[in-house]
Amino acid sequence: MPTEFDLTGKVAIVTGGNGGIGYGIARGLARAGADIVVAARNAVKNAQAVSDLQTSGGQALAVSTDVQDEASVQAMVQATLAAFGRVDILVNNAGINIRKAPQDYTVEEWLRVVNTNLTGVFLCAREVYAPMARAGGGKIINIGSMTSVFGSSVAPAYSATKGGVVQLTKSLAIFWAKDNIQVNAILPGWIHTDLTAPTSAERYHAIQARIPHGRWGEPHELAGAAVFLASRASDYVTGIAMPVDGGYTSM
Ligand code: NDP
Repeated sequence: MPTEFDLTGKVAIVTGGNGGIGYGIARGLARAGADIVVAARNAVKNAQAVSDLQTSGGQALAVSTDVQDEASVQAMVQATLAAFGRVDILVNNAGINIRKAPQDYTVEEWLRVVNTNLTGVFLCAREVYAPMARAGGGKIINIGSMTSVFGSSVAPAYSATKGGVVQLTKSLAIFWAKDNIQVNAILPGWIHTDLTAPTSAERYHAIQARIPHGRWGEPHELAGAAVFLASRASDYVTGIAMPVDGGYTSM
């Protein structure tokens, strides 16, 4: 591992790290040397992810967390500090979608998406700020989406939150540059996970036809960008939104 990408001795929190893109990123960070905190709700999936991550050699810890809940996020960061004494990297990956027309949305549904995908990013970032600043710096990686760039024909609340994630990323990057905390976003293209499994065959193929690479991506294909943005290699990179999308946004 070239030294500028080496994460040995670093501690990374990955929200939603128990499956899909979050697990793909957690595994990449672990292989680069980081110890991982898997922060998600499902204790069974958390335990399985931690057991799998430990085979990469580093330490891993599961902390049951609901990113919508302020007290839960605070307890998760405290558990990380109690176990490892530091937090160097935060990956804000937890996310949900509710696919229906705007006129059919209840306020409860709207808030569930906003609170998970956007307020959760704010809460986790706010809670890691003090320990990162005290330690002289850190890396925050927020997961956006193609709907950070384009509108959505199926998911109005989701696209609103993912647009917001990019603007929040830029503001955090500006505020915290003085603390040597780099804040960036990754915009995954269309990736095979539980979240996208309900996609109809017709829509799946229509999306695929628009991807220059001619295929959907896999969760592990987000790991390289995450290692870059978590490592010293990106120390002069902040506030960007990096597509990892097989060329979708160039089309
Ligand atoms: P998955 O459904 O596979 O994973 C979602 C993860 O988020 C799970 O680990 C889930 O764990 C966790 N999660 C959901 N709600 C909460 C919560 N309230 N608190 C803590 N954790 C929570 O989806 P993906 O891997 O596809 O999605 C991961 C991220 O990538 C999301 O932000 C998504 O918007 C984004 N993305 C995905 C794309 C794709 O094509 N798949 C494309 C672009 C972006 P648990 O249920 O145990 O809490």
